[in-house]
Amino acid sequence: MTSGSDDHAPFARRRGARRKAVPGDARRHNRALVLRTMFRHGPLSRADLARETNLTRVTTSDLAAELLAEGLIEELGTRVDQGRVGKPATLLGVVPDARLTITLDLSDDERFRAALVDLAGKVLDRRAAERDGRTGDAALALAHELCAELAEAADRPLLGVGVGSPGVVDPRGTVLEAPNRGWHGVDLAAGLSQGLGVPVHVANDANAAVLGELGLGGPAERSLFVVKVGQGVGAGLVLDGHLVVGDRFAAGEIGHVVVDPNGEVCACGRTGCLETVIAAPRLRRRSRQGDPVAERTAAGHRLGEALAPVISTLNLREVVLSGPPDVLDETFRAAALDAIRARTMPAVGDNVDLRFSSLGEDDVLLGAAMLVLDRELGVA
Ligand SMILES: [Zn+2]
Repeated sequence: MTSGSDDHAPFARRRGARRKAVPGDARRHNRALVLRTMFRHGPLSRADLARETNLTRVTTSDLAAELLAEGLIEELGTRVDQGRVGKPATLLGVVPDARLTITLDLSDDERFRAALVDLAGKVLDRRAAERDGRTGDAALALAHELCAELAEAADRPLLGVGVGSPGVVDPRGTVLEAPNRGWHGVDLAAGLSQGLGVPVHVANDANAAVLGELGLGGPAERSLFVVKVGQGVGAGLVLDGHLVVGDRFAAGEIGHVVVDPNGEVCACGRTGCLETVIAAPRLRRRSRQGDPVAERTAAGHRLGEALAPVISTLNLREVVLSGPPDVLDETFRAAALDAIRARTMPAVGDNVDLRFSSLGEDDVLLGAAMLVLDRELGVA
């Protein structure tokens, strides 16, 4: 037997610098590992689980019993192993609708969107509410209403609420700064949690989008960069499987990098920020007033110029465009890719795959669900 101390070794290493691991931590870690293994591999026997997780048979059987009792997994019948004698193995699998997550996408300029999502990332119900220019407390009230509506519609226990919000969001779920919503230091997580009595997790909308792509979009690489275009412009970055939030939680805030000093005045007070060139409302307006193809080409080009140094610095290969398809079209994408390739060395630029989000406009909703799965069950 390799004993329990091996079981929690990775956890101890990760946290060892701050405090010693205690038995409760090890159990939580092992439980998440067992559940995560079942999410990734599909149905497994108890022996498969022990092998895949490197935990002892006793530990995996004990944790499986706990997860069965909670209804998170179920027995799915038996499998006869070829060439093996003895009892056929009972297979265990995750129950996709054992818990539901309410997710909110607050990134769009016109409407807030919400969904009820199961553990497998399937959308079971969805709602939307027109924002009608609401900001501040009125916008918060709208988010509360959407959550309450879906909580009422949920016919299974709720795992929690996941929110993708514009602006700078700290790990506790406080929106430090979201100028387009008039939110400054708004404790969104605590406010929503109070009304619903379930845990609430909030991420910046672009960070939610990149988590959605990573968890459900089938990325080819372990590093991924998502550019989110909505009322504003932001980006989410996963490097080697880890979300990068930055020293002050504002990583990816590329929207206010000045790309055209002679351009339009931005909400932030500067002139010619990337946001003034490619944010959805502004690009729509210019496309209506001028030549739509020329406007999209120019906007895509500006984005490519802004992305080239980032892509070169990090040697990113997979870059995803997320936003409304009427704005982010093929003309826009092709112009951005041309600009990236013209401004990077071939070893970097020739390998860049600039593509649209594989989750479409649900990427923030589904990414917010992944956030809850990760924080509550440790499985995303
Ligand atoms: Zn700006």
